Amino acid sequence: MGQARILVVEDEVIVARTIASQLSQLGYIVTGTASSGKVAIAKASETQPELVLMDIILKGEMDGIAAATQIREQLDVPVIFLTAYGDENTLERAKITQPFGYIVKPFTTKDLRIAIEIGLLKHQLERELRENRDRLATLLNSMSDAVIATDDRGMVTFMNPAAEAITGWQQEDALGNEASEVFHIVDEVTEATLENPVTKVLREQQVVYLGEFTSLITKDGKRVPIGDSASPLRGGSDQINGVVVVFWDLSERRQTQLLEQALEKEQELNRLKSLFISTVSHEFRNPLTVIQTAVELIELQGTHLTEAKRRTYLKRIQGAVQSMSNLMEEVLFMGQAEAGKLLYNPAPINLEHFCREMIEDFSTVTNSASEIIFTSHSENTTAVMDERLLNYMFGNLLSNAVKYSPTGGNIQFDLICDPTEKVAIFYIRDRGIGIPEADQAQLFESFYRASNVQSIQGTGLGLVIVKRCVDAHRGKVSVASQVGIGTTFTIILPLNPELSLTE
Ligand code: ATP
Ligand code: MG
Repeated sequence: MGQARILVVEDEVIVARTIASQLSQLGYIVTGTASSGKVAIAKASETQPELVLMDIILKGEMDGIAAATQIREQLDVPVIFLTAYGDENTLERAKITQPFGYIVKPFTTKDLRIAIEIGLLKHQLERELRENRDRLATLLNSMSDAVIATDDRGMVTFMNPAAEAITGWQQEDALGNEASEVFHIVDEVTEATLENPVTKVLREQQVVYLGEFTSLITKDGKRVPIGDSASPLRGGSDQINGVVVVFWDLSERRQTQLLEQALEKEQELNRLKSLFISTVSHEFRNPLTVIQTAVELIELQGTHLTEAKRRTYLKRIQGAVQSMSNLMEEVLFMGQAEAGKLLYNPAPINLEHFCREMIEDFSTVTNSASEIIFTSHSENTTAVMDERLLNYMFGNLLSNAVKYSPTGGNIQFDLICDPTEKVAIFYIRDRGIGIPEADQAQLFESFYRASNVQSIQGTGLGLVIVKRCVDAHRGKVSVASQVGIGTTFTIILPLNPELSLTE
């Protein structure tokens, strides 16, 4: 520091010279002397000293305090005042210029040296502090993460531009407001206001993080999905003197997630479509082969064809045509349901009459070994439902009950109308092969068939259709089954479409 460059401002020429010579002795470089405030400013700007020694009382219109103010503001050069005496008023004024020291006249060379070294050090520390502060400010301002700082009462003391952009608050309006006002967060799903992380940090005295699916409500009421963390700001004695919240806008990431989900759904749909086409064409091939073979046999045998054989072949053809038309029906139904175009036309219906008629028709057509025993347990069985969909529902459940009871056995069909719960409950119980427990959860998925039905024909669409029909009525379907003992399907439907079932 010995080589520091110093400007001396002193209107007493002799004193000025003495000081200049003392400075030279101490190894400093004197960049010049000035005897008035105006000259001091001009010389300071011209000679660029590192420090100015300034007499407070100067002749002329500008005194040392006024000159020091300008030098400090315009040139950022520290000033040390020289003073012989000082009235209160002058010293108060001098303080405002934030001097880097005072030297009281008369002073020794040692006094001079100590004052100069302290002044220079103070100025250097001040500059470093300012640079650090500027660097920090630049960092915070250019950060893409938003930052809000508060004091130990949770009042906002700082916001960076990213925080202003996300919250819609300007720092100047936010300062002094409670953090929860500026940083208002809600649960994206329930929309409930969440505890402000600042309050939480002040209470728990540790870093806290936001839960998933948190949104910030901006000043103008918009909703922005955000992620964040909040940390305590600790002072020297480890005391918390504020909180800093760092958060970021997740809108884009959320958008990407939604797109990915949509894409996955579409891929799954495409996969199902391909599976659908390949399964359906496969299912058509079997009955077609049966028809083709039967026709060829009839042709081949020509006039040799016996009446018994003719009947057998025709029966085979009939069976094949029937299964193709069933499949057609299922495919058409699924197509409608998948396109969201499943027609649902509820109308008043007497469920007991409907069930009896449907069972009668079903038994005539299927001509099965199993007998269907219907019981209605309620007096009043009127409801409002879609008859066409009920036909699909019970047609499929009954044909399963028959198909998967190869050794026969009665099938029980029970109906209960519960006016208190306002629901109709249907039970269809068979004594067939049952469904292995491992398969039960997936039965309502397209093409899913249990592991014990390999030798029995089927596509795996019947229960999907049942589920669609139940859903259209906003009802529920469930299954209880034991292998070798039998299966019970339970369907619960609201008696009226206005009364949908809840969990
Ligand atoms: P289709 O599309 O011709 O109806 P499917 O009968 O195989 O073919 P679903 O009706 O959807 O298809 O039934 C799915 C599977 O559930 C069946 O393959 C069978 O494994 C099982 N299942 C359904 N009902 C019964 C039942 N009553 N008893 C035993 N298993 C059953
Ligand atoms: Mg079926």
